[in-house]
Amino acid sequence: HSGPTDNHLHAWDRDHFFHPSTHMAQHARGETPNRIVTGGEGVYIVDRDGRRSLDAFGGLYCVNVGYGRKSIADAIADQAHKLAYYHAYAGHGSEPSIELAKMVIDRAPKGMSRVFFGLSGSDANETNIKLIWYVNNVLGRPEKKKIISRWRGYHGSGLMTGSLTGLAGFHNLFDLPLGPILHTEAPYYFRRADRSLTEEQFADFCAARLEEMILAEGPDTIAAFVGEPLLGTGGIVPPPAGYWPKIQAVLKKYDILLVVDEVITGFGRLGTMFGSDFYGLEPDLITIAKGLTSAYAPLSGVIVSEKLWKILVEGSDKFGPIGHGWTYSSHPLCAAAGVANLQLIDELDLLANVREVGPYLRGALAEALADHPLVGEVRGEGMLAAVELVKDKADRVFFDPPNKVSVRVASAMLERGVIARAMPQGDIIGFAPPLCLTREEADIVVDATRQAIEAVA
Ligand code: PLP
Repeated sequence: HSGPTDNHLHAWDRDHFFHPSTHMAQHARGETPNRIVTGGEGVYIVDRDGRRSLDAFGGLYCVNVGYGRKSIADAIADQAHKLAYYHAYAGHGSEPSIELAKMVIDRAPKGMSRVFFGLSGSDANETNIKLIWYVNNVLGRPEKKKIISRWRGYHGSGLMTGSLTGLAGFHNLFDLPLGPILHTEAPYYFRRADRSLTEEQFADFCAARLEEMILAEGPDTIAAFVGEPLLGTGGIVPPPAGYWPKIQAVLKKYDILLVVDEVITGFGRLGTMFGSDFYGLEPDLITIAKGLTSAYAPLSGVIVSEKLWKILVEGSDKFGPIGHGWTYSSHPLCAAAGVANLQLIDELDLLANVREVGPYLRGALAEALADHPLVGEVRGEGMLAAVELVKDKADRVFFDPPNKVSVRVASAMLERGVIARAMPQGDIIGFAPPLCLTREEADIVVDATRQAIEAVA
């Protein structure tokens, strides 16, 4: 190595680096995987010890075009040489930020008209919440402010977005201001449905629970509903059949805005450009991040419908410039990465690859694992899959405490050179590989998963 020795790096890491989402005590004791990743090519990453692993989680479901794409690296470098930064306040801009806005809206579902850029999925959802409140203030209905999300939804870990997230681990001990945020039923058939219900009946149940909550709170107090097209971090769970049309009907009935959080599903993960296209959603706001740049640079966005845009324009006329923005909104280097990334998604026809290899991966996982006594369900959509492990399959008994078995399976997979994720709540092994995954690579993932489950069981 040319830089500091591994020993130095590990010591500096332990002594100075505050890692996100990490067990501090275990890390200090050297019990975390603690990999220092140095390179990547296609679906593979390489670390300082020279180990190569197939990253079947695409970083954190974000490296959609795969690692090592030269055209994106070149676009960032070219823009850095030309102009590294200028802001976008007061109508200013840079070439790539405007070009990217046009590309995003060209690809967005019908009715969407403008895009606001941020840096992370969390800050984009914070923007959504502020826009929802702002719009209802402009419309003169200051009481209509509550926001409903779902248990097991994931929308970030900021102050309000952490509240929006419906996973207890992201609220506990932080005193988050849950106040205006309410959580409704998770559309999670395998875990939540009474086993006498069909999927369609469980979807009816979820819609009825939502309507009950709206009526109990008073429809005039509910501003918006926020949901991912399918639950991501909550367990990679596609909704039960018929769920979204029923939910949308309830929202329309009570004049409640729909915010679709497409941080994972945006830009191809389900084989359509957006998850909203896949499920036939009509959003008022869409959250985007991850796949927008395939994480080559941090960039997120809020796509605003024409209907809301008109209200925002009216707001500026009445109250002046909108008091919201970040120094790095539409940062030119990140926007340049976004432009090159969206071009690559088209050139490589990655959506078609998702439609072909995604079902192949899930089919192969199901074939290899469905009969295993620990495997309760294999599920997913597009280039997303999950294997849910259970203690007792016939009676659908879950492990208690959770997460021990899934963490062991994920580390047994890592030993076999494949990265999957032990999802944070439950015993669920998650897969979200780069969208360029081939059938041969899918076979490698399936073999490692089967071997790991057999080794642990
Ligand atoms: N929304 C969804 C659906 C996500 O999956 C995530 C991150 O995983 C976020 C929001 C938050 O994004 P970030 O981690 O970039 O803040």
